[in-house]
Amino acid sequence: MVFRLQPGALNHYLQTPAEQRSQDERSHIIKTDVVIAGSGPVAATYARIILEEHPTARVTMVEIGAQDGKILGGHHKNSVKYQKDIDAFVNVIKGALQTVSVPPEDSYLPTLGGDAWTTNKKQVFHGSNPNQVPNKNLKSSGITRTVGGMATHWTCNCPTPHEEEIVHNPIPKAERDVLYERAAKLLNIHPNEYNDSIRHTIVKETLLKGLKSRDNSIVNMPLAVERRKDNPDYVTWSGANTVLGDIEQYGDRFQLLTETRVTNLVRPMLDGLPVGEDIRAVQVRNLHNNEDYFILADAFVVACGAIGTPQILFNSDIRPQPLGRYLCEQSIAFCQIVLKRQLIDLIPNNPEWKKRVEEHHKAFPNDPLHIPYNDPEPQVQISYSHDFPWHCQVHRDAFSYGDVGPRADSRLIVDLRFFGKQEISVDNRVRFGPDDEKRVGNWLPGVTDIYGLPQPTFEVTRSAKDQDNDHNLMKDMCDVANLLGAYLPGSNPQFMEPGLALHITGTTRIGKDPKTSVANPESRVWDFQNLWVGGNGCIPDSTACNPTKTSVMIAIKGARALIHYLEKKNKSQY
Ligand SMILES: Cc1cc2nc3c(=O)[nH]c(=O)nc-3n(C[C@H](O)[C@H](O)[C@H](O)COP(=O)(O)OP(=O)(O)OC[C@H]3O[C@@H](n4cnc5c(N)ncnc54)[C@H](O)[C@@H]3O)c2cc1C
Repeated sequence: MVFRLQPGALNHYLQTPAEQRSQDERSHIIKTDVVIAGSGPVAATYARIILEEHPTARVTMVEIGAQDGKILGGHHKNSVKYQKDIDAFVNVIKGALQTVSVPPEDSYLPTLGGDAWTTNKKQVFHGSNPNQVPNKNLKSSGITRTVGGMATHWTCNCPTPHEEEIVHNPIPKAERDVLYERAAKLLNIHPNEYNDSIRHTIVKETLLKGLKSRDNSIVNMPLAVERRKDNPDYVTWSGANTVLGDIEQYGDRFQLLTETRVTNLVRPMLDGLPVGEDIRAVQVRNLHNNEDYFILADAFVVACGAIGTPQILFNSDIRPQPLGRYLCEQSIAFCQIVLKRQLIDLIPNNPEWKKRVEEHHKAFPNDPLHIPYNDPEPQVQISYSHDFPWHCQVHRDAFSYGDVGPRADSRLIVDLRFFGKQEISVDNRVRFGPDDEKRVGNWLPGVTDIYGLPQPTFEVTRSAKDQDNDHNLMKDMCDVANLLGAYLPGSNPQFMEPGLALHITGTTRIGKDPKTSVANPESRVWDFQNLWVGGNGCIPDSTACNPTKTSVMIAIKGARALIHYLEKKNKSQY
């Protein structure tokens, strides 16, 4: 029989003497010191810091996805297959992303035979969202449910935001700088692993020559990557495993539960209502047998991404007014170019590359192109600046779009991805239900996602200022593209669908004021003693650059506050 926890079950358990508890009750309770929901790079940051800096605390990590490889949370692009054929990785990313909110399609079939079942009502398929207004949707926003989260496929670009991108972050600059340094070590960030690449050098020098006034902004992408010492043709991309470090050394102190949904955080109940400032347990469901369990602990971290984290808080009846609000997502302009003839023709004349090119032509006499097959791809960034307030990646990488296929030789292709900010607005948000349960209006209640949690619905629009900014960003991308080459047919300049940046921030933002933030500067949820949130949702700013390094930076501070809480609690018990 499937064991389902009933409301009030935790109260019953806590109030019943050990010898009178039922077998079911006892076998469905797990005890630990810290529960971490999620297993992406931010959850991994909490685990690493707690295991390393606290002498004894036990950590139980709970992940809704499965472990896809031998390495716990490893980057899938580390396979030789994808390093040899980057386009094949596009399909891995597509498969990894489950769309957040899909409005039901018009399912009227005018030519359907008369005896087939049909309805006059709007059909709501399992997983579609009847509450989603299409023009307020972030249609391409996705979640990756697997051990390691999105860092199993990410591009690994880890810039530190420009000062203009940091306006609301409550962590003082001097402290931020130290935390960013630690974040860079945890993520294993290296900016110079592509310096020997012919293509990288050509692209960077062309930009430096063509954009003289912006030469301070043209830099190597600060990537979470390391070139392999045993075979420099390949690199090792960082994943959650890199952040966790040598997890084996902690033995039983670390436990990972996979394909287990964190359903909600549990407080003791009084007269049917949750009470107190302490979370006592999380309720989880093993997705294989659908049985429910409680995990009792002293402290709790929810690091399930910018959508999953507020979703769990909402489902736990923790619904402060700012939850899900102040959402920012970046616009993306994209194109691909084929490098200019004159840039390619100069390659054999360069004394530094001459020998490599000659050896290549000797080995492959039929190849007319002067670029060795093992030459690494370009990885250049044009950083955010006051006059050009957007973040630009000039590189070659797999996303869920932009594969080159047989259209051209991949060695000649450079991708341009320009990311634009979004103005912060309290009205831009993800919501999980009606604001007022008693006045639902047109809201269709009770809709869940395919995992059985409250369905996220986006209400996001870009302001006139955002649109102006996007226009200027697009013009700039075209100017930069023209310096490098001609557009690859089919990959002309275009804006990508909203949500595709996968960089949502703000939904559980940190701050100094509980009226406009969900958590304090240490990421502890206001009004709770032992509940922390982690992830891009904690970033309170509108940024153009990639968020993960900042989220890891914020999480290090959070993890240390959690350790401090455990120490204080232990002391008070003696
Ligand atoms: C194509 C692509 C390119 C990217 N490139 C970059 C880049 O260059 N630079 C950058 O900074 N960022 C990039 N990102 C984004 C980056 O991967 C994320 O910012 C980062 O992974 C966020 O870390 P996280 O730990 O907060 O969340 P995630 O990595 O999303 O992990 C959250 C985890 O929580 C789990 N979870 C969700 N709900 C539940 C639940 N109810 N119970 C239990 N577990 C749950 C999920 O399964 C997931 O494993 C990219 C992402 C993609 C997909």
